[in-house]
Amino acid sequence: MPELTVRNWFGDLVSHPLVIVDAHSVADIQAVLMDPSKYPAPVRAAGSNHSTTPCAAAEGGTLIRMKMNRILNVGPDSLTVEAGATHIEMAKELERRGLQFYVNTEIGSLTAGSAACAGTKDASMPGEFGQVGSYVAGVKMVLPGGELLELTEAGQPERMRAVRSSYGTFGVVYEVTYRIRKLTPLAVHHRTYSIAEFLAALPELKALGYSLMYYFFPFEDRITVEFRKDNPAASGEPNRTAWALRNHTWGTSGPRLAHEIGRHVHSPAIRYGIIDHFNGLWRLQLERFVESDHTSPPDQIIRYPESGSDNGYTFSLFAFPEADFPAALTDFVAFCKDYYAQEGYRSDLLYVGYWIAQDPKALLSYSSGGNVMTIDPVSTGGPGWKEFLNAYNQFCVERNGLPLLNQTFGVTREIARKAFGSRLDEFAAARRHYDPQGRLLNAYFQNLLG
Ligand SMILES: Cc1cc2nc3c(=O)[nH]c(=O)nc-3n(C[C@H](O)[C@H](O)[C@H](O)COP(=O)(O)OP(=O)(O)OC[C@H]3O[C@@H](n4cnc5c(N)ncnc54)[C@H](O)[C@@H]3O)c2cc1C
Repeated sequence: MPELTVRNWFGDLVSHPLVIVDAHSVADIQAVLMDPSKYPAPVRAAGSNHSTTPCAAAEGGTLIRMKMNRILNVGPDSLTVEAGATHIEMAKELERRGLQFYVNTEIGSLTAGSAACAGTKDASMPGEFGQVGSYVAGVKMVLPGGELLELTEAGQPERMRAVRSSYGTFGVVYEVTYRIRKLTPLAVHHRTYSIAEFLAALPELKALGYSLMYYFFPFEDRITVEFRKDNPAASGEPNRTAWALRNHTWGTSGPRLAHEIGRHVHSPAIRYGIIDHFNGLWRLQLERFVESDHTSPPDQIIRYPESGSDNGYTFSLFAFPEADFPAALTDFVAFCKDYYAQEGYRSDLLYVGYWIAQDPKALLSYSSGGNVMTIDPVSTGGPGWKEFLNAYNQFCVERNGLPLLNQTFGVTREIARKAFGSRLDEFAAARRHYDPQGRLLNAYFQNLLG
């Protein structure tokens, strides 16, 4: 049998399933799950394979690629889709009907199946959650034995809470229902501070009634804050260039420039000099041009290319309880500078973060205990990146950081145990309940759960 090789979108995580199945129907999924002799374990479902951890890896087993992507029903406050539907296609369809998602996170490739059972993040809009799955009101799954199960928030809230953190270890999700809302004009603007000014102003900024996301630059002592809020009074046509500019710099020109500089400029002083200069222009662009009283929420969502191997970027993140964040950010700036001085490595892009509201909707939610703020290094990868992440993981764990199992690279059982405590046992027990034979359990989750 020829060896099959599967890479995640960025291209740094490689696995070798024995069988790959494209699921176009529920029957295709059932056929896999009901025939262990033809379709070996672990059986893993994958959406767009954008995760930065091996959560979807089916090493030596069966990978189900979710090709079911139809929009099944759109109501005034709900959307039902097949699990392979992508965030950007769903959001565009909603916009055509004067509707929108609650959370318009920028990753257009995110599939509904992943959103329903894996971690996500976006700056919380005032009074709302920042995790996409928290607005998932119902799922339909094929269980490991091939039976079908439907769960809803209204009918089984506790089981839905576990499913939202199940990462495909309970069953394969084939249908998802979201809560949605009326399309509302969105205002956005940016301001740049020194890090100390930002931390001093943070209590006031939080009280202003905007969502808060930030781009920060430890080597230049700058942080640019994105402020967003609904602006229902806005009229006329939305400004379509503001988010298009942000999306192009964030998703295309920034990573492409960093890749090119990495390939061609070998002197660190010159390389990072160019990067710092580019980041200065990026801040200017955000402040001057990503500013409008009237944008359309789905315009925030980026349509990424099929593969990120040439010009893509990757990242990691930890969430910190908001009371711990000022000290964590201050220490992190020093940590980045020390690490560069000692190891010669720094990210060739930038760092970002989000203020995300307390959210108990998922069992392994990183904000179930209270509001959090995140610290997310972003990079084109390259030599030194994974070693940097090991040191970053250690740094974050020491400061009560919480990871996402699909977005934080290098989570070990010890890290997961410290972050989630007995919630990890609850996850392990629920997983055993749905899949006592461990047919859906890959090495990554086996290691995390013991
Ligand atoms: C360039 C880039 C930008 C990103 N930006 C953001 C961002 O702004 N916000 C954010 O939250 N995240 C972001 N991410 C991370 C991304 O959203 C998550 O990794 C997400 O899980 C990816 O969705 P996916 O469909 O590719 O999932 P996959 O990586 O394919 O799968 C994720 C997990 O869900 C499981 N799964 C997938 N489909 C099913 C199914 N049908 N049934 C059961 N289990 C299933 C998989 O087994 C796996 O455990 C970004 C990633 C990249 C590479």
